[in-house]
Amino acid sequence: MDNVSFYSLTLGHLKDHFLQNNVKPFHAQTVFTEIYKKLNFNFQKSDFDTPLITDALGVFDFSLPKIVREQNAKDGTTKFLLEMKDGLKVETVLIPFHKRFTVCLSSQVGCAMNCSFCYTGTQGLKRNLLAQEIIGQYLVAWQWLIQNRPEKSVCPNIVFMGQGEPLHNFDEVKKAIDIMLTTEGLHLGPRQITLSTAGYLPGIERLNEMARVNIALSLHSPTNSVRNELIPLNRSYNIETVLNALGKIPLLKRQFVNFEYLLIKDLNNSSEDAVKLATLLQGKKAIVNLIPFNEFPDSPYKRPSVESIDRFKLILEENGIPTTVRTTKGDDILAACGQLKVLDEITQAKKLRDEKNKNNL
Ligand code: SAH
Repeated sequence: MDNVSFYSLTLGHLKDHFLQNNVKPFHAQTVFTEIYKKLNFNFQKSDFDTPLITDALGVFDFSLPKIVREQNAKDGTTKFLLEMKDGLKVETVLIPFHKRFTVCLSSQVGCAMNCSFCYTGTQGLKRNLLAQEIIGQYLVAWQWLIQNRPEKSVCPNIVFMGQGEPLHNFDEVKKAIDIMLTTEGLHLGPRQITLSTAGYLPGIERLNEMARVNIALSLHSPTNSVRNELIPLNRSYNIETVLNALGKIPLLKRQFVNFEYLLIKDLNNSSEDAVKLATLLQGKKAIVNLIPFNEFPDSPYKRPSVESIDRFKLILEENGIPTTVRTTKGDDILAACGQLKVLDEITQAKKLRDEKNKNNL
């Protein structure tokens, strides 16, 4: 059997493990600090005053996901293809913001939501990622940052906007977040983390079990019939149900719910849509992030014009809804929202399809 991954341990687990092995539990803090603050992954091999610590750590696996491909976009975005122990791969993206980077983490290999506009969704769900694989993505990306962008290498913020629906993998995402918040470890603040959901109600209803991270809902339309087309999950949990559940989450004083709104040409970008959206969000602590649709090979939708994006934004703002437009990052390397999919696998799938077609001829 494989060794237990070190990155699956909470500080409490490590303390218990030390206790059982006659090591004073406070050493667990030192170990967390070495690993998560100094990224000293060879630490377990160093000579301790007490060889007991080395022995106690010897049972854990410290290996991290492997970078099998790295692509750098002109705007400073870097996309990694990371291989997990079983050979499955996910994408993780580092995105530059003003003073620091944000790392966009995947929560699943593939995704079960099958949203009509999303590249990742076309792949289906392969499996959930484990907490250690989620943390592994973060550590690999941060280590890369320290080595390659030392001038801007403070620990990056996190968005769960990579592959997968994070609330569909609630337990492992929660565990990963808990470990990442540990004071003696990465010591991220809950507000440095944003979790984006397509509206998976069973997960939204459990958010009170989790630290108070920022929540984003991928709304994309104020009308159920259109949202049904875009996000099939809406047929099970419609707009009103999801908004009602989100309304129950206690927010801090200056905390908002982010509503992501994909703008697709001639589908959901009319002035009427903007007015309806403003009405829907009236009185809520809401910020709208407009995301102009990112096209991908064979994508069914088109990106709207800059003028229509500006008009949509203006209508929302005139109705008192704070609105930002998400500038697309990394689109020259297909690292932008919804464009994440393991390209090798697409190529493979296309090959299979072509072969099938050939055989049928
Ligand atoms: N499952 C989660 C997180 C992953 S998607 C969710 O649905 O929120 C992260 C964001 O990228 C979502 O808002 C999603 O709707 C958006 N997105 C997906 N495909 C896109 C595309 N082709 N262009 C622009 N944004 C896209």
